[in-house]
Amino acid sequence: MPGVAESERFARLRLPVSASRGRRYPELPHPYRNDFQRDRDRIVHSRAFRRLENKTQVFPPSVSDHFRNRLTHTLEVSQIARTIAASLGLDEDFTEALALAHDLGHPPFGHSGEEELNRQMAAFGDRFDHNVHALRIVERFESHYAAFPGLNLTFEVREGMAKHSRDFGPGEFPELDEYRPGERAPLEAQLIDMADEIAYNTADLDDASDAGMFTLDDLWDACPGAYALYEPVESMYPGAPERVRWLEFVRRLVDALVTGLITGTQANLLSTQLLSVEDVRQHPVRLVGFTPATAELNQSLKHFLHARVYSSPSLEAERAKSETQVGWMFEHLLAHPEALPEAYRLDYASEPAHRMVCDYIAGMTDGFFQRAYQELTAAPHA
Ligand code: MG
Repeated sequence: MPGVAESERFARLRLPVSASRGRRYPELPHPYRNDFQRDRDRIVHSRAFRRLENKTQVFPPSVSDHFRNRLTHTLEVSQIARTIAASLGLDEDFTEALALAHDLGHPPFGHSGEEELNRQMAAFGDRFDHNVHALRIVERFESHYAAFPGLNLTFEVREGMAKHSRDFGPGEFPELDEYRPGERAPLEAQLIDMADEIAYNTADLDDASDAGMFTLDDLWDACPGAYALYEPVESMYPGAPERVRWLEFVRRLVDALVTGLITGTQANLLSTQLLSVEDVRQHPVRLVGFTPATAELNQSLKHFLHARVYSSPSLEAERAKSETQVGWMFEHLLAHPEALPEAYRLDYASEPAHRMVCDYIAGMTDGFFQRAYQELTAAPHA
């Protein structure tokens, strides 16, 4: 734990709204909401945010009605990220805005949708990247204001959206060159990636257990660190229903990962002499990270999820079907642009056709995609 002097030093690593570079189009201040709070509200009121409800996280809705979707996942990330930010003395409003925006750019069908769009775009020497797409959404596609395009979010929120899950160098993503390439993101953005990982590892484990994809013994054999968290539950509540004991374990797991992340990050900060957000930006590596023991637990969970869940025959089959359908849709719309809504074609006439088709598909929810796919494959020219 940091002492008083360290806590004061850590407080200088927070990025307060007063240090923001501001918005692309200047706006008058709001009487009682600061700019990061306004960014959060703009994200929550966006169409792209509402669409998260009908986008697959890992399990398609056909499997169960109470599994996570991308919207509930986003809320879990936001809750975990705010807890971590508050504990580390970072800016909670900034963190919350970033957490709520972190998955806005995901196309339908999770990672298989993203991979297929990227594969299709590669044929044109282009690419699809969900972080870049999220910025296109908030800068262009969300049209709520008469005075400017997009949501006019602060520079820091846009930068955090670009950088939360990876760092990039100058020229690596030419469309992101205004977002301080080659520098680390502020700590608030760095922690989003880890909060995301904690949220989906624990949630995927919970949903997969519910779907009967593994037995508890399978998990304990593969992850001794997880069993160490379950053991006290067994001895404290031997008569509790298995489902309740499982949820007691999941709770402890989230808590252990969050605590390990806070402790690990404090240790990383203690080992440096960073005195400002600028120092964080210039530091050669990210500073938000697990303790070694928590990193090992997290790694064992990831391996287990890959082996038993993500590469299971049922999810593989689902993924292969999604990729084929997204690929078909891309090629079909490219060959038949008249199938795109007219208003959409007129709005984006300056874009190359492959980009227009990619943006259109990326914006779809799983449900909208399925309806469009049924209609187009039933059409006589298909
Ligand atoms: Mg996520």
